[in-house]
Amino acid sequence: MSTVIPIRAETSAQTAGCTDVVPLVERGQREVFCGLTGIIWLHRKIQDAFFLVVGSRTCAHLIQSAAGVMIFAEPRFGTAIIDERDLAGLADVHEELDRVVGQLLARRPDIRLLFLVGSCPSEVIKLDLSRAAERQNQIHHPKVRVLNYSGSGIETTFTQGEDACLAAMVPGLPTSAPDTAPALMVVGTLADVVEDQMRSLFDRMGLQVNFFPPRNSQAMPVVGPNTRYLLAQPFLADTARALQSRGAQHLPAPFPLGVEGTTAWLQAAATEFGVAPEVFELATAAPRQRAEKALAVQRQMLQGQRIFFFPDSQLEIPLARFVHRELGMDLVEVGTPYLHRQHMAEELALLPTGTRISEGQDVDLQLDRCIADAPDLVVCGLGLANPLEAQGITTKWAIELVFTPIQGYEQASDLAGLFSRPLKRRLKLAA
Ligand code: SF4
Repeated sequence: MSTVIPIRAETSAQTAGCTDVVPLVERGQREVFCGLTGIIWLHRKIQDAFFLVVGSRTCAHLIQSAAGVMIFAEPRFGTAIIDERDLAGLADVHEELDRVVGQLLARRPDIRLLFLVGSCPSEVIKLDLSRAAERQNQIHHPKVRVLNYSGSGIETTFTQGEDACLAAMVPGLPTSAPDTAPALMVVGTLADVVEDQMRSLFDRMGLQVNFFPPRNSQAMPVVGPNTRYLLAQPFLADTARALQSRGAQHLPAPFPLGVEGTTAWLQAAATEFGVAPEVFELATAAPRQRAEKALAVQRQMLQGQRIFFFPDSQLEIPLARFVHRELGMDLVEVGTPYLHRQHMAEELALLPTGTRISEGQDVDLQLDRCIADAPDLVVCGLGLANPLEAQGITTKWAIELVFTPIQGYEQASDLAGLFSRPLKRRLKLAA
């Protein structure tokens, strides 16, 4: 039987890591999707919610092509298009929006939570969606709750759409009764299959857990000073701030990617709630060993391969820790759109000292570095993948790492497979 990875001890023993790293900060041209992209996984998660983008035809195309077309069910997202009359000030945009929302809610009585999602066009014409949401709430609450957030591509990276959405929900979460026992909350959208696995692991430890966001808007978790929360995603800075303003306390941990990350993440909750080591071991041993075995196979392919991460989803640092420590890959550069030192502290401590970490982007300079470094695998956005492939560099689309369930023990091998598959494809093509 393998042993529990003593992550806290290991972290402090390996004091160097990259805890004090001075990243290469770049503020130039960026190549990222906008925050509307988050609707693709959020609308699948909260099943009685609707996301109404207030934007242009470009926004509508982005969402429709990225989310695909549902044939047998009506989608839970749509776009209220700001047209020329609105832009020219010939129509009252607020009146138009009220009309569209009224029509939508009359036609879709299943909607219980409506998000008005801001975009670049709505921000450019300074459309105040918080005022619109307030007005809509006066009409439709309590049957429907109306919230707003921005998914615009102005100064954001695409995963910030989820952060903004969750942060908008936090003020409306019910308050937990004072003097109640500490309660565990997992924060960040996880695929239902992953959520079920995590719940089952916590159950085996004797821990009750609430997930936020919930699958149904009528089952929002309570929050208060007794809430202890684990972040399931690394891009939730505003949500964390909002939860902390409600008294919740963050449990610092690496993110649940790979065997090591998942074990440390679960261990953070187990330690906080006083779960006995033997109970923890019993709960985690079998899935952990299965994952270790599966990863050993993937490692044969990936060991010693050099990897370069362009900044995209904010998952880059936890992914770099996983591919280096569990798959033996060498880190050439780890780019991240933003470096949140507090949320990343446990991850940075696990990276090899001297890792080149970059924050932000100046895409031309970064491409020059990448080409000069000639890595074996580049993780980047769609816009960079084809030009790099044309230069003979193997790529992995970063967005797949967000759309695919990758958290937890059972997904560790699939996650490794996302890195090994492009290399296998390259070998086949060469043969
Ligand atoms: S929000 Fe902005 S970046 Fe995103 S699709 Fe609409 S116009 Fe494009």
